[in-house]
Amino acid sequence: MPELRQNFFTKEWVIIATERAKRPEDLVVQHEAKEVAPFVPTCPFCPGNESQTPPELLRLPASKSSSWQVRLVPNRFAALARELEPSRTIHRSRRTINGFGVHDVIVETPDHSQFMALMSDTQVGDVLRIYKTRYNELSLDPRIAQLTIFKNHGHAAGTSLEHPHSQLVATPVISHQVRERLQQALSHYDEYGDCIFCQMVQEELEEQTRIVMVTPHFAVMELFASATPFSTYIYPLRHMASFGDISGAEINDLAHVMRTVLAKLHVGLKNPDFNYTIRTAPSECFGAKYFHWYVSIIPRLTRMAGFELGSGMFINTVLPEAAAAFLREVKVENATGAGA
Ligand SMILES: [Zn+2]
Ligand SMILES: [Zn+2]
Repeated sequence: MPELRQNFFTKEWVIIATERAKRPEDLVVQHEAKEVAPFVPTCPFCPGNESQTPPELLRLPASKSSSWQVRLVPNRFAALARELEPSRTIHRSRRTINGFGVHDVIVETPDHSQFMALMSDTQVGDVLRIYKTRYNELSLDPRIAQLTIFKNHGHAAGTSLEHPHSQLVATPVISHQVRERLQQALSHYDEYGDCIFCQMVQEELEEQTRIVMVTPHFAVMELFASATPFSTYIYPLRHMASFGDISGAEINDLAHVMRTVLAKLHVGLKNPDFNYTIRTAPSECFGAKYFHWYVSIIPRLTRMAGFELGSGMFINTVLPEAAAAFLREVKVENATGAGA
């Protein structure tokens, strides 16, 4: 029987259509097998072509005497301009702010043919360390209200460049979607005195059915009211509102967790297109007891169609419990942690 389920955080309803249920294998999108070279002479992110990007802002290792493993550069085709002073105008019903913002690119590896799912934990850790450094740097800028760190992998996820990279966008406003989630979390905290995320993680750990893996610092799970198949969430076990508060030991653990989850998706669903986002409190809510940062990984296995666009409600054809069980079973190298 189909079932409607409500998302605890967003209050959005989703239809879990078990009648139309598909086996995970049915969702595999067949990619054309193509050979990708580790170095592409025309790629601006390949080593030797550093002059084709705007000047580098961060790199690891930091020393210029060794070759880089990860670098952060301004996006040459930035959606927003960092040299502006944000100014707001209100004219009758119309509100605008000039296009101030920051748009950076993180080149995750010198190897053009690499996938994050197949990198070493150390390499993924370096990517996360660059995220954290830049995140904390930009959080101090009073012009910036919201920072979004994300990765697009594959065509369906919106990638324009093949070389493994992720992006960071800083905006002078908090988006309506993020504001609404903060308000939901705040009213839950006011009513129950608990972080809504800590409560949910605790319940999921007790029930186990939607847990994919657990490590010393993180729990990975499918949400009860997951909107799309195999959407996978990584929550820190320690309450933290901001990603910028992650410790060194937690970064190492998160690197292992992200690499393992991406590897499970890569192996189990044959390199699906996906987006991941680090969803963290805006700087005005740093230290908040009501908000809890996390990573969402959304494989792009299905397309939004008329019903989703018209109703704001999703139809998910894979039971979150079945997706979790499937991912627990996919064996990948060096995956430790309960249920891995
Ligand atoms: Zn390249
Ligand atoms: Zn919490």
